[in-house]
Amino acid sequence: MVAKTLKSAPQFLKIFNHINHGREFAFSFNVADRCPVGCMCYWRAQERVKELSDEDVIHFFQDRKKEGKVLAVLVGGEPYVRRDLLPKLTPILPASWVVTSGTTPLLSLPNTTHFVSIDGGNAETHDRVRRMPGLYNRIVKNISDARKKGKFQCYIHSVLNKANFTQAYEIISTWHKNGLADGIVFSTMTPIREGGEDQLQLSENDRIWIIQELQRLKMFYGPFLLMTENMINRFHPDHTKMQTPETCGTARFVGSYDAAGERIAQCILSDKADCTSCGCYVTPFIDTLIEYDWKTILLGLKLVPNQ
Ligand code: SF4
Ligand code: SF4
Repeated sequence: MVAKTLKSAPQFLKIFNHINHGREFAFSFNVADRCPVGCMCYWRAQERVKELSDEDVIHFFQDRKKEGKVLAVLVGGEPYVRRDLLPKLTPILPASWVVTSGTTPLLSLPNTTHFVSIDGGNAETHDRVRRMPGLYNRIVKNISDARKKGKFQCYIHSVLNKANFTQAYEIISTWHKNGLADGIVFSTMTPIREGGEDQLQLSENDRIWIIQELQRLKMFYGPFLLMTENMINRFHPDHTKMQTPETCGTARFVGSYDAAGERIAQCILSDKADCTSCGCYVTPFIDTLIEYDWKTILLGLKLVPNQ
């Protein structure tokens, strides 16, 4: 396990080199501007665009590689809507993250870590938040099938909101017990102007409760929860109210592009996202990395897939 993790070190050193020189080390790309799932999210709040052809997407990735990017974050919409394109994209960059709702059978892709979205401690909550009956059980089946076939590095990403935040323990204990994931990360819901779901917004007190709960879960679940104590504390309203695109590690080091290959303003969540209440997992990850937090560095080695 240690040797496997250390294999990621060269990629990770490149990331540090970019950060030290103030350069973007990663980019996110909306592989598809479509999604079969019905939640109101940052992507749905954006204007729909014409998707690049498969050939143009491949060229787009090759251009990002020439720029020296180390990590591609494949998002959507739902990236698996263009499933035949994915195996042509992930070998291009040294490392890729595929962020998926897990609605369709999952592929073992080169250089890739999957992040599968789970928004509830049980099927009822997840399917209600995602507005898709039967989705939770399909995800369990799809991950289970992918892992039976061989190597499939998979982390759960759970966005805590008003409907599910008290289920953080249920979420982590379920995925720890079922052995279908290599770990879990949490975000808290970021308010989106002219979109998003107001009834799911967390209050400041909810967010403070979440910090205490995640710190408790960290003591119990250790490395399965891929967040350091410092990262968890960054979700505190007293910290997020100081966040701006100028200070945010995600905005500074991860360029975001829509499915037409055009730059998305601000960050992956777009300029409709409220920085002062942002709970995106990636931001505390990059911010504590920049501060040379050694626990975050170790965690980063696990998250960047080795070739
Ligand atoms: S949150 Fe993800 S799964 Fe839900 S609509 Fe948005 S892109 Fe689709
Ligand atoms: S919304 Fe969040 S991720 Fe985007 S720039 Fe603001 S703080 Fe960073």
